[in-house]
Amino acid sequence: MLPSPASQKTPVTVAYGDGIGPEIMESVLRILEAAGAPLDYQVVEIGEKAYLSGHTSGIPSEAWDTIRRNKAFLKAPITTPQGGGYKSLNVTIRKSLGLYANVRPTTSYAPFVSSPHSGMDLVIVRENEEDLYAGIEHRQTAEVTQVLKLITRPGSERIIRYAFEYAQAYGRRKVTCMTKDNIMKHTDGLFHKAFEEVAKEYPSIESEHHIIDIGAARVAAQPEMFDVIVTLNLYGDIISDIASQVAGSVGLAGSANIGSTVSMFEAVHGSAPDIAGKDVANPSGLLQGAAQMLVHLGHADIAGTITNAWLSTLEAGIHTADVYRSGLSEREVGTRAFTDAVIERLGQTPSMLKPAAYRNATISVPPVRNSTPEKVLEGVDVFLDWSDGDRHPDRLGALLESACPEGWKLKMITNRGVKVYPGGLPETFWTDHWRCRFISPDGGDLDFGDILRLLTSLHGASCDVIKTEHLYTFDGERGYSLGQGE
Ligand code: NAD
Repeated sequence: MLPSPASQKTPVTVAYGDGIGPEIMESVLRILEAAGAPLDYQVVEIGEKAYLSGHTSGIPSEAWDTIRRNKAFLKAPITTPQGGGYKSLNVTIRKSLGLYANVRPTTSYAPFVSSPHSGMDLVIVRENEEDLYAGIEHRQTAEVTQVLKLITRPGSERIIRYAFEYAQAYGRRKVTCMTKDNIMKHTDGLFHKAFEEVAKEYPSIESEHHIIDIGAARVAAQPEMFDVIVTLNLYGDIISDIASQVAGSVGLAGSANIGSTVSMFEAVHGSAPDIAGKDVANPSGLLQGAAQMLVHLGHADIAGTITNAWLSTLEAGIHTADVYRSGLSEREVGTRAFTDAVIERLGQTPSMLKPAAYRNATISVPPVRNSTPEKVLEGVDVFLDWSDGDRHPDRLGALLESACPEGWKLKMITNRGVKVYPGGLPETFWTDHWRCRFISPDGGDLDFGDILRLLTSLHGASCDVIKTEHLYTFDGERGYSLGQGE
């Protein structure tokens, strides 16, 4: 194949990474070159060296410029140094560049790679920016720490619509949503509700919902039943690893992090420092990431040629040490020899494994802004740090009743979400973190001035207020959870 002139090549940012990164990146670039991928590589130095030279995020500013200028970023795994307050580079890149969708196809290659699930071929679309990964954590009392789980309407709608658009573009038949909305009715409930609404826009695609715990168990035991799964950040993180593990192929999976302008493509695994520099690493995960990148850039044909050559190599039993099984494999090879074997097979299609048939499809899902509902303040949860004496909630209740100013009423006190006043049970464990719910006695409309009046009064009674949460209704619908037993 003749090389394309440089002017027609798509610029791609490349990071060789740490550990096995340079070996597997070299392998992948050789395969891309041999397949005639019209790409112009611009290399950035990120990772361990950048961390150790003083960039706590692992990425120098000139690398940001290159990554932001180019549409696609092919990244080998990097090592995050232990301790020293170093921030995860992946999380920094995802959040800074708005890479809202993590797309991880997981396929089993049985019988050539050992897996009990020969029919497994699913794609996990994981929300990549929100949820517990916003990283907003606080220690509030001697005994209690908290993290904020943020789920937004635009973020949820966008990732869910991305999953349906993906299913439509790549000929998938079903999208499964996974949440824990039986417990988190407002946060996970919002995601589930958005799913039901968006699903109606795609009547030709089947849709279903599973509670995440049973859903994860089914991914482990019957992965064949899933096609596209869309879920929140943390659940997606966990089920992606379960899926890769049961496919028998953590070292074979790639992933895409999709944003509106820049997208990043990588292997699922880390930098494997234990095997670095030994010519034994499997380059397949990064190669799968590169195939996703080619499809994203409109080179589905080249992605197909590469994946089919790679599947043919697996079928020929030419395996790196991580997937080599005596009796199942023909020949154990190192990184370079595996790369040569894939290049030799460019143009071949597998005879038993399902050949790759990628289609060019540009999926673009802009964020949506919703209309502003009518917001009414009907109370406030005041959180107190209180650990006096035996910590009996009836004493705290009496203190708050006497400090409660006119225009306010103490509705209840909870400890770790369980109602302990009025009328709690002695078996409930009391920590030093109390949520005290105050409401308007006549259901009247409140304002921030009323809250300040309440807080001043509680402060005057020596209450240690650590935070407040306002209790709103939105278009008449309650925007906060009830206490257990309220
Ligand atoms: P790891 O994925 O690097 O290694 C886990 C095990 O799998 C090791 O035994 C390793 O030898 C093996 N392995 C991984 N990739 C392989 C491959 N391509 N071929 C053959 N064997 C392979 O996970 P870890 O040891 O927990 O992490 C090592 C470093 O990687 C850490 O610094 C971590 O922070 C980093 N990491 C980076 C990324 C990323 O850049 N996307 C992701 C995960 C971990």
